[in-house]
Amino acid sequence: MMDNQRKLNFNAGPAALPAEVLQQAAAAVLNYNNSELSILEIPHREPAFIAIMDESRQLVKELCGLGDDYEVLWLQGGGRLAFCMIPMNFLGDNESAGYIDSGHWADEAQKAATYYGDAQVLASSKDNNYTHLPEWPTALPHGLQYVHYTTNNTIYGTQLQHIPECDVPLIADMSSDIFSCKRDYTRFTMFYATVQKNLGTAGVTLVVVRKSLLANMKRSIPPMLSYKAHADNQSLLNTPPVFAIYVSLLMLRWTKAKGIDAIDAENRQKAELLYGEIVRNSLFQPVVDREEDRSLMNVCFTTHNKNNEKVFIDLCKDRNITGIKGHRSVGGFRVSLYNAIDLHAVQQLVQAMQDLEKIDHH
Ligand code: PMP
Repeated sequence: MMDNQRKLNFNAGPAALPAEVLQQAAAAVLNYNNSELSILEIPHREPAFIAIMDESRQLVKELCGLGDDYEVLWLQGGGRLAFCMIPMNFLGDNESAGYIDSGHWADEAQKAATYYGDAQVLASSKDNNYTHLPEWPTALPHGLQYVHYTTNNTIYGTQLQHIPECDVPLIADMSSDIFSCKRDYTRFTMFYATVQKNLGTAGVTLVVVRKSLLANMKRSIPPMLSYKAHADNQSLLNTPPVFAIYVSLLMLRWTKAKGIDAIDAENRQKAELLYGEIVRNSLFQPVVDREEDRSLMNVCFTTHNKNNEKVFIDLCKDRNITGIKGHRSVGGFRVSLYNAIDLHAVQQLVQAMQDLEKIDHH
């Protein structure tokens, strides 16, 4: 599949991957590294795969600027299982943790924690259908084990652009904006991302956690549910998703080659172009009012006239543009601008929006 034959894919996840990463992944399926074996056929305890694991862990640390006080884990179960494992591992029966309820996934994380301890909602924008970020609390309740928040709310198109001041361990779900911007990762005691947005293909979750947190496990749990057991076994407790981890390694190499600074700058340019057009164009309006809350990754907008929704979808279809339909709980459109999307793709979408306006005015 040549690059110019590919659709412009703005899906929220699984999402677009860079053409060169797809080519490398495809080549490895046929013959991995001239081994005359497919990547799909390589046992997970053989040197070839151990090398993939070592390099991927090393690259995560390098890209995040982290030292040996952090563990890098590749696990299964997606963001959803992380929602359960975090309180299972780090919240005792009689202890409290704080959750910022900024969207559906944040809410799911909080609900999962109620099974294990006191999971307090510190702030929420649920009453406004999450169309803005909740105000970060000025004072935290005493004795929280950690505060959990979602850096980017994939469904509602909001993103916290800075890392909040917090004097208890911060745990963040970065599923939809990891490696999308410059960020001081050392401010987090733990962060995690289900990788099928900015970092690969579905089937693996990146978890990065301070060793000091692992030293403070809250209950006796089976190894498969224990972050400490996964760390002690270098994420090889069971058979890991070899291919998904390999695709993440390819994405990490691609991210490093491009550089986070350049990715950050391009992501800002892409988002500025699209939000600029949404605001300028007489047919569209943004879902998120406050500019400072708007996500650079998932751009949500609606049409003033509902009839234009289908017209725009059809126009985009004619132009090979796909994946722009909004989540059912928001409606309208959601355009995901993950790292693999280049400025040219956004320019083509903006052109379609401008052409719709011309058609509408006739
Ligand atoms: N967190 C966020 C921010 C997400 O966007 C998603 C999925 N879209 C999840 C968690 C859940 O991930 P998974 O489906 O891999 O469990």
